[in-house]
Amino acid sequence: NKWVYSFGADATEGRADMKNLLGGKGANLAEMANLGLPVPPGFTITTGVCTYFYANGRNYPPELKAQVEAAVKRLEQAMDATFGDPANPLLVSVRSGARASMPGMMDTVLNLGLNDATAAGLAKRSGDARFAYDSYRRFIQMYSNVVLDVDHHHFEEILDNHKRDKNHNLDTDLSAADWQAVIEDYKKAVEHELGRPFPQDVQEQLWGAVGAVFGSWMNARAITYRKLHDIPADWGTAVNVQCMVFGNMGNDCATGVAFTRNPSTGENAFYGEYLVNAQGEDVVAGIRTPQHLTIAGKQANKSDLPAMEEVMPEVFNQLNEVRLTLEKHYRDMQDIEFTVQQNKLFMLQTRNGKRTAPAALKIAVDLADEGLIDKAEAVRRIDPASLDQLLHPTLDPKAERKVIAKGLPASPGAASGKVVFTADEAETLAGQGEAVILCRVETSPEDIHGMHAARGILTTRGGMTSHAAVVARGMGRACVSGAGDLRVDYKTKTMSVRGIAIKEGDIVTIDGSTGEVMLGEVPTIQPELSGDFATLMGWADSLRRMKIRTNAETPLDARTARKFGAEGIGLSRTEHMFFDPDRILAVREMILAESEAGRRAALAKLEPFQKKDFVELFTIMSGLPVTIRLLDPPLHEFLPNTEAEMAEVAKATGTDQLKVNHRVVQLHEANPMLGHRGCRLGITYPEIYEMQARAIFSAVAEVSKTTGETVMPEVMIPLIGTKKELDILKAVVDRVAKEVIEQTGVSFDYMVGTMIELPRAALKAGEIAETAEFFSYGTNDLTQTTFGLSRDDAGAFLPEYQRQGILEHDPFQTLDQDGVGELIAIATERGRKTRPNIKLGICGEHGGDPASISFCEKVGLDYVSCSPYRVPIARLAAAQAAL
Ligand code: ADP
Ligand code: MG
Ligand code: MG
Repeated sequence: NKWVYSFGADATEGRADMKNLLGGKGANLAEMANLGLPVPPGFTITTGVCTYFYANGRNYPPELKAQVEAAVKRLEQAMDATFGDPANPLLVSVRSGARASMPGMMDTVLNLGLNDATAAGLAKRSGDARFAYDSYRRFIQMYSNVVLDVDHHHFEEILDNHKRDKNHNLDTDLSAADWQAVIEDYKKAVEHELGRPFPQDVQEQLWGAVGAVFGSWMNARAITYRKLHDIPADWGTAVNVQCMVFGNMGNDCATGVAFTRNPSTGENAFYGEYLVNAQGEDVVAGIRTPQHLTIAGKQANKSDLPAMEEVMPEVFNQLNEVRLTLEKHYRDMQDIEFTVQQNKLFMLQTRNGKRTAPAALKIAVDLADEGLIDKAEAVRRIDPASLDQLLHPTLDPKAERKVIAKGLPASPGAASGKVVFTADEAETLAGQGEAVILCRVETSPEDIHGMHAARGILTTRGGMTSHAAVVARGMGRACVSGAGDLRVDYKTKTMSVRGIAIKEGDIVTIDGSTGEVMLGEVPTIQPELSGDFATLMGWADSLRRMKIRTNAETPLDARTARKFGAEGIGLSRTEHMFFDPDRILAVREMILAESEAGRRAALAKLEPFQKKDFVELFTIMSGLPVTIRLLDPPLHEFLPNTEAEMAEVAKATGTDQLKVNHRVVQLHEANPMLGHRGCRLGITYPEIYEMQARAIFSAVAEVSKTTGETVMPEVMIPLIGTKKELDILKAVVDRVAKEVIEQTGVSFDYMVGTMIELPRAALKAGEIAETAEFFSYGTNDLTQTTFGLSRDDAGAFLPEYQRQGILEHDPFQTLDQDGVGELIAIATERGRKTRPNIKLGICGEHGGDPASISFCEKVGLDYVSCSPYRVPIARLAAAQAAL
């Protein structure tokens, strides 16, 4: 079995498409080496070893040791140095790399191979003792932290004390002797913590680090991240062992991270940060303020520090060439890591860069325009759920803002909320439905859950590529990073700036597009849906087969949905129109009436209101189909519960209070979801559906007469279980239609159909389709009735079901394709057999869920219907499903 793959120094064995085996980092290091880019040589221990490790009680495959030894030998030959040799030591980094990039989740150890003897040897051989001991102290700290589990703060304290004693400000102020003293203290601290000395044996170091990487696959942070991103635990991580190159050997050295295009805006401009005379994670950690790569970047961010383009123009140009090579090769924006050792460039990582939703759109559209990808690929590249970020409001530019601080625009979007200072507090408050802004000096992987819970993230330290910025962009949270004027005090749970004190629980607003931090809540406005958004949505529209409708009953919702591109209404819930204060009285009169005549009198008062609603909807939807569902909920939903309210209703309707009480008791149901509702109301009180049908058809007549437009109403009868029910109620609707046509002299078309939301209806769809001209799958109720599960009561056990893996997803959010889906497939097949041109759609919550939409495409539905804000998501998801 082959467990180890080499890369670099002309012996690369991997490729980019071997991510499953080599992890993302390893596969891309191999790919870069294949492209002829300067990659320090190394080797990758495969994800197979990780799987083996966990399947075999944390033991390695027996062949591994020899394969690693051979790979190390190759590195020694390539570098002309020997692992553990005091005279000429080879140093390596040990880096984790899972299949999907998991930024900051796994741990990396740099400068491995240093001990007291090799550090002295490195000092001598390089002629730079400061560099050698700087590297050694870094190694002790990283290794102790990652592998030996000694907390960072021990080392930070020692370093801080030392700096204070010596009056040093920056790490770069420390001399070789300073570092040697720090190292002695570090080693003492480790021995004190562990009861044994820091390991001097380089083999022990290597295997310790490899074991720590595999071990970190199962640490709490990694598990949380995988859960949030749906990454299966059995994928495993690979381990990369790579020869060190040094960015900390002096002022002709540097290290940096960059994006080949701007990850916030998508602009096609090189974008990144670097630090002179620094190593690895100094840039990300926010210890020193990083400098910009380009002059343009420096100017845009009003930085005084010189850009790499100015400081080392030759290496910069080389890096810029690499940027172009990589983009062309990967046909996507890349996130790269590099180090410059004595003016020589080395590439340490590349991967597809995380980006904001607006940047993703711009990059996809630009790449298609540049001819690197086609339109279908551009459409495929956008995560439909991410569009959500674009559809929601941004700060009203005219609103007054009390800006108290400014940081970097790290992740766009505006967010207001209560200030909290810990991730746990963010999670707790968000769980109670509060909007919170998580404020930290800087964030670390331990804060992921709180960042996820927060509306926005604010840090006082760190750049555009800091942990907070990268994670926030990935999650679509607004983020302002490095707002250095703000002083956060975790102890007193306050932050302050120029005499303004902000306590935990105070409201602030952050604007991740400008970097502004404001006191209080700032009003917002609707976004513009033009430019790249419109272009890409146009491409999506040309590629999809299914129509997209919306669930809407108010004029506002209908207008919003049309603006977002809805092609009709798939569900208009008439009962929502009954709750208006003007109308609820008449509804209650109707319910309290003791005779049909009494009910008819009350319904007559409601009819003009209903008609007006429909006139408005038909007008807004000008000619697009509108599905109207007749009354669905049980009548007791319209009656009050408390004595006081009942007294009020009695007075308002002129009824005896005892009678109101009596009616409430009478209408009480043990299982309202399965009770006297839907078409069962129509069967027992046909006059209700009659009134609604008359309101619909007289509205049709009026609108088609005044606008000259054809109105296409689809009358939908809810909760049908038998063909008989539908026959009876369709006859009522047809009779009313005929009457309205006669009375108004306007003729019109309409359809009568049903919601399929009971398993019996799905099974008997063949029969029901003899009467029904369309089916709309009401997947909310169909999920409840198929599972025998009440949505309102499921909260008590659904999370446990998901935890135990009984249900992978909440079936109310993502359609249960296996069970509920099978009923839909059966109903579709049987319905079509009876009536080949039957119109089929879905109107449950699932109509806006990309995975469910993909299922609808597979089954061959004609349309999906979803809430207005999800219409663009559905348009894109439907296109992707059709590709
Ligand atoms: P992460 O996945 O957290 O980004 P990496 O394995 O990429 O961790 O390591 C972090 C940083 O360490 C890299 O960006 C790079 O700057 C530095 N690094 C890793 N390996 C080497 C190496 N062989 N030589 C020099 N620097 C390295
Ligand atoms: Mg990295
Ligand atoms: Mg229903």
